[in-house]
Amino acid sequence: MENFNFLINGRLVAGAKTMPVVNPATEEVLVQCPRASEEQLNEAVAAAKAAFPAWAATPIEERRKLIVRMAETIEKNCADLARILTQEQGKPLADATAETMGMAGFFRYFASLDLPLRVIEDSKGRKVEAYRRPLGVIGAIIPWNFPLMILSFKLPPALLAGNTLVVKPAPTTPLASLKFAELVADILPKGVLNFIADANDLGDALTHHPDVRKISFTGSTATGKKVMASAAETLKRITLELGGNDAGVVLDDAKPKAVAKGIFEGAFQNSGQVCLAIKRLYVHESIYDEMCHELVQLAEAAVVDDGLKQGTQLGPLQNKMQYEKVKGFLDDARKNGKVVAGGEVMDRPGYFIRPTIVRDISEGSRLVDEEQFGPVLPVLKYSDTDEAIKRANNTTYGLGASVWSSNLERAHDVASRLEAGTVWINKHLDMAPHIPFGGAKNSGLGTEFAEEGLNEFTQLQVINMAR
Ligand code: NAD
Repeated sequence: MENFNFLINGRLVAGAKTMPVVNPATEEVLVQCPRASEEQLNEAVAAAKAAFPAWAATPIEERRKLIVRMAETIEKNCADLARILTQEQGKPLADATAETMGMAGFFRYFASLDLPLRVIEDSKGRKVEAYRRPLGVIGAIIPWNFPLMILSFKLPPALLAGNTLVVKPAPTTPLASLKFAELVADILPKGVLNFIADANDLGDALTHHPDVRKISFTGSTATGKKVMASAAETLKRITLELGGNDAGVVLDDAKPKAVAKGIFEGAFQNSGQVCLAIKRLYVHESIYDEMCHELVQLAEAAVVDDGLKQGTQLGPLQNKMQYEKVKGFLDDARKNGKVVAGGEVMDRPGYFIRPTIVRDISEGSRLVDEEQFGPVLPVLKYSDTDEAIKRANNTTYGLGASVWSSNLERAHDVASRLEAGTVWINKHLDMAPHIPFGGAKNSGLGTEFAEEGLNEFTQLQVINMAR
């Protein structure tokens, strides 16, 4: 593989140290990736701070054009980016390609937005205006499941609003992000966009840094709480997109054959490593056996292999730690439920686990109560809709949920009673840049996407004039 560098103050630079990045499909080291020292992190923040005044003063039309140029660059280099993404992340090349093009789509979408002046009052006595000002240096912290896509939730709105950035990808998936940084290095003025990588050891320094005005974080709830505590000292703005334990609720009037595919994809996309995946499925007792049967058929037919191989539907788990964690959930499933598909790791190199369906399992097992973040789906039986809603809501998480039914009105009623930031009906995981997205309860704080997401990268300023 080629060389990777950081982007600091407009220059591509080597890391103070290096760290290995592993291909999860082979367990072989892909490359020694640069690893930053705290001094390099401080240099990146200093560069972003120095670049901020000029970038904030650049007309939005100019910033917009540069964001579109970045989208064009992503599209032009999609094949390269997607290939790196598959090799480091594990997902099938078709999915990596869709992620890269989706990333470009988010850049284009945010470039189309505006931050218009709002006149709140224009009367004889006063004129009151509301402006959206940039905040300053933004620290963007990214997880390993959708490294490029999640970058695009943060980077273009932050830039459009006039902020500068220091981006830190996850230690096991820094490569596609660093490649992206290299590709766009000459598009923006120096220091506006900076990329480093760490070995899970610089997050705290970034969130504590007095010159960082906001942290936009996506990752686990446990780390999100640390970010919040650390940001409190300097009262940084924070947006937290955290973990989930999404419930799918299948009503008694749903047709198992018709809904099985959507549920399967909602649970197993990216090998279940999706914050918003279906992580618990509640099925009415009258259709329970049939629903389990349909899901087992799909699980058994799924092609699990190296993401670079054509035809692969599901790749490996992304890293060894997550693989070991999911193996723990498999043990739990065998103890507390009945494994009817999958259930074993694959006898080959790589962190492969076949899609697993677990029936006759209930609350009180780890697989149901915790976030598995892997290809293991517990299917729970219920007998009464109110009971299903209560059980679905009985979690500290509140990211997404879905209701599956032949009756939209009934499904809508159930949806409105589920405690989640997004509730889908007869689908799961339908996201788009113009549809705001954020978690309830311990699944997050604030909103990404859409105008709401853009506004979170701004400070509201009111100018109130006497007349
Ligand atoms: P993680 O919390 O372990 O790591 C996320 C990022 O935080 C990484 O870049 C990591 O290096 C960094 N980090 C580690 N310690 C830090 C600290 N003390 N301060 C600041 N940053 C620190 O999460 P992960 O394992 O990479 O990702 C999986 C989790 O992310 C799952 O819980 C998943 O549900 C969640 N997730 C949520 C969303 C969402 O939008 N809600 C999207 C994707 C993933």
